[in-house]
Amino acid sequence: MSTREPPDAGRLASKKDGLYSGLAEWPILERDLMGHQHLRKARCIRIDSVGHIAPGVLDAIISEVLPVSENAIPLGHWRGEPLVLEVLNHEQPEWTEGRAWMQQPDYLFPLISTALQLATWQRDHRFCGRCGSEAHPHSHEMAMQCVKCKFRAYPRISPCVITLVTYGRELLLARSPRFKPGRFSTLAGFIEAGESAEEALRREVKEEVGVEIGRVHYFKSQSWPFPHSFMLAFYAEALTRDITIDGIEIEAADWFQPESLPALPGPESIAWELIDNFVRSVAVK
Ligand SMILES: [Zn+2]
Repeated sequence: MSTREPPDAGRLASKKDGLYSGLAEWPILERDLMGHQHLRKARCIRIDSVGHIAPGVLDAIISEVLPVSENAIPLGHWRGEPLVLEVLNHEQPEWTEGRAWMQQPDYLFPLISTALQLATWQRDHRFCGRCGSEAHPHSHEMAMQCVKCKFRAYPRISPCVITLVTYGRELLLARSPRFKPGRFSTLAGFIEAGESAEEALRREVKEEVGVEIGRVHYFKSQSWPFPHSFMLAFYAEALTRDITIDGIEIEAADWFQPESLPALPGPESIAWELIDNFVRSVAVK
């Protein structure tokens, strides 16, 4: 454990202000899809075959009004205008990759997250998973439907638990081999079939760092589009302090004081919010 950079206090403060002040002034995606099957022209978000998004003329990624193609996915209304998603079946290297768009203002997050997830879903469901025939967008449901057996595939959402494990005022943070050097984060893992979120949390923490968990409480959720994770964020109180890393998903883990945090994930992530919220709560005690 060598990297213990000081927390970026300025950045920690600005996220909260940006997220919660004046949010009502910003447009939201109205997910009202009725009537979209008759659209001839609409504004659109264009995504290529590998998840690059085209720059737009409105709110960074929205195009001017264009003719709507047969396979366009209706998204709803944005600023009172119908909006669709066009997914290209080839690559546009000059467009910007999805992760880079996460740096946009917070109010665009749901729109970008929705578009990226639906693009992935349409790309991955061009053929029926049951009989192998072609599938096309359903006329009035958010579904890809098989032309032969009529099986419908709905957008895939994969629930995950993400948890900040605490012991008193200390935070358990860990790093995956996939992280940038020096960066630590909270623990996370997919919920398995048949599991509750709380059961998944206790299992993941035990598997990844060998710590037993006592009380847990829910914080908030976030739809994270790489590729379709639905993050359920929790705080978890550790009953034990000894850390035994699994060495596969986690290559290092340690307890940190709020005053000496390592490099953290970006403020667009729910991991950052879990940490920021906890640090604020212990700072005022
Ligand atoms: Zn089929």
